[in-house]
Amino acid sequence: MTFTETYLTTLAANGLDTYANPETAAKFETLYSKLVEFNSHTNLTAITDEAGVILRHFADSLTAAPFIGERSLKIMDVGCGGGFPTLPLAIARPDCRFFALDSTAKKLNFVAQMAKELSLPITTLPARAEEVAITPAHRERYDLVVSRAVARLPMLCELCLPFVKVGGRFVALKGADGEAELAEAENAIRKLGGKLISKKTFTLGDAGERVILEIEKVHPTPAAYPRAFAKIKKAPL
Ligand code: SAM
Repeated sequence: MTFTETYLTTLAANGLDTYANPETAAKFETLYSKLVEFNSHTNLTAITDEAGVILRHFADSLTAAPFIGERSLKIMDVGCGGGFPTLPLAIARPDCRFFALDSTAKKLNFVAQMAKELSLPITTLPARAEEVAITPAHRERYDLVVSRAVARLPMLCELCLPFVKVGGRFVALKGADGEAELAEAENAIRKLGGKLISKKTFTLGDAGERVILEIEKVHPTPAAYPRAFAKIKKAPL
């Protein structure tokens, strides 16, 4: 199968038909070849086969796209690494403004390079989430915060919810452990001003179970949060 055929088939099989058009497929094909090239000198991902990247990085990231809704939002991806979910989401929703934050600058070089090459509305922020989230320019300034594969939910909420404006949302992309993490994070969600508004559980082909948690910011996050990373890690809320 060609790249386009695998891409279109994978998206259709996972209910993501909205993004399954030839124009989008061409952008993902460029992203795939550049990802493999960049990965040969700088580690971005352990998955490099075409079908694996399409399912586990591209389609998995796109499962967050319906949570954007119709409006053009200001979106932060906390711990985006090599650009997931940011890059696929920006291809799907070029009307939104994306901010891709990661503490590893060399990974963000790839994200910046792809944003330029594919004309995507992405600003890269090489920094630690807990340090950026206390600055007035970023605290409670985002309509939507997304994050995948960064930390368990209690820690992740402390890193992400401070960025969300009141009335905005945090969407956590989780694997099979999502339910258990949610049970652990009830206190953190409440303390940080959040409220769970939806939970979507599904199977992403061979990649297995996925849980997407949507948390609304109903109150401002108390000024004490986020704490220093060592404290977040040692005593999660
Ligand atoms: N989200 C990407 C994905 O799903 O492919 C990358 C996941 S990778 C396993 C976790 C990333 O989170 C790493 O790139 C790491 O540098 C970043 N990270 C972890 N803690 C962070 C923090 N406190 N602030 C910023 N980035 C962080």
